[in-house]
Amino acid sequence: MATITFIGLGNMGGPMASNLLKADHDVCVFDLNPAAVKELTGQGARSADSLQSAVKGSDVVISMLPASKHVKSVYLGEDGLVHHMAKNTLVIDSSTIDADTAKAVGSALADAGMRFIDAPVSGGVGGAKAGTLTFIVGGEHADFAAAQPILSAMGQNIFHAGGVGAGQIAKICNNMLLSVLMVGTSEALQMAIDNGLDPAVASDIMLQSSGCNWTLQKYNPCPGVMEGVPSSNGYQGGFMVDLMKKDLGLAMDTAKHSGSATPMGALAQSLYTLHSGQGNGKRDFSSIFELFNHTKED
Ligand code: NAD
Repeated sequence: MATITFIGLGNMGGPMASNLLKADHDVCVFDLNPAAVKELTGQGARSADSLQSAVKGSDVVISMLPASKHVKSVYLGEDGLVHHMAKNTLVIDSSTIDADTAKAVGSALADAGMRFIDAPVSGGVGGAKAGTLTFIVGGEHADFAAAQPILSAMGQNIFHAGGVGAGQIAKICNNMLLSVLMVGTSEALQMAIDNGLDPAVASDIMLQSSGCNWTLQKYNPCPGVMEGVPSSNGYQGGFMVDLMKKDLGLAMDTAKHSGSATPMGALAQSLYTLHSGQGNGKRDFSSIFELFNHTKED
């Protein structure tokens, strides 16, 4: 059992912290949103008055924050945690951020005597709740090994991608592909509907055919086809359009840096930017389905 501080109790961080409690870890939680903290203290977590006091006495600090600027500010900002964590603390950042920020935070923490791994996740809110997330880790071998018993309370597959920052690169490649699959699945399902097919039947057929992919298996974007996913709940919860837009921005920056051709990713980025601009930024990313749906009605 470890003493863990968990920062960022949103759609993903809340259930992840909950699984650490279920595995009998001693968890202190912190979030700017008091309701999110209350939910976790109701499950047995400790809370603290400030970010700085939340890390007192912890061996491990985990963060699950929206974007790079939040991670940078929490660890390296004014009165950041770099000045408050004990030496040798293992810091696990599971937010999806750019690899350069992960490296900068990792290097500043290492200079101060702490250990850092980037450990972004895949598997969505469903995976976070079920404790079946995939962790994609960048960091030293010894730190990866030390993190494994903690990560295994929240996830099923734990990969070591390389040094610090490598987890973020692998994650961003995955999410660029996911965005392309979500757009492609949406347009295919709408074309099936436009031609008189039942989307549930079309989904079943594609699931058993060569178009099968994760969005059809776990996250169908067409309302009414699958239970327990955001498309059957008004596209609430899940993975916000603006977070996918952020990830596609990171993917395009990465591609530019490495000189990689990513035409499909670039198109998906344009479509998600358009969709966000139409007021859908806070809805789940599978709501991109409505872009095709509305085009037909117009
Ligand atoms: P979210 O917006 O639901 O949660 C973020 C939480 O961080 C909020 O509760 C917010 O109050 C808190 N927060 C923000 N700034 C803070 C600060 N300075 N101190 C303490 N708390 C702070 O986001 P999410 O969906 O949980 O995603 C978190 C990260 O995980 C993102 O980087 C996202 O890209 C990534 N991710 C999300 C999913 C998904 O399906 N939602 C899947 C994989 C990865």
